[in-house]
Amino acid sequence: MKGRVEIDREICKGCDYCVITCPMGIIETDSVFNKAGYYPVRLTDPDKCTGCVLCAEVCPELAIMVWRESVEQEKA
Ligand code: SF4
Ligand code: SF4
Repeated sequence: MKGRVEIDREICKGCDYCVITCPMGIIETDSVFNKAGYYPVRLTDPDKCTGCVLCAEVCPELAIMVWRESVEQEKA
């Protein structure tokens, strides 16, 4: 399973719940604040996302959307 994540940096309030929760450790706090004055989060390595959806489930602001896609295994 592979995932694609979109984070709305203008909705994000920088609570870091998703940073703490992501099992792959691929979400971090950005160094540039958004229009509301919060430091939002960003993905560091999108290719490692498994589509587990935990980040979206813990986000109190509904700032994260996750799409999941199956990865077909190549036959040897
Ligand atoms: S879907 Fe899972 S692996 Fe992907 S960024 Fe969110 S918590 Fe991390
Ligand atoms: S859980 Fe939501 S509001 Fe909190 S840092 Fe992550 S994206 Fe931003």
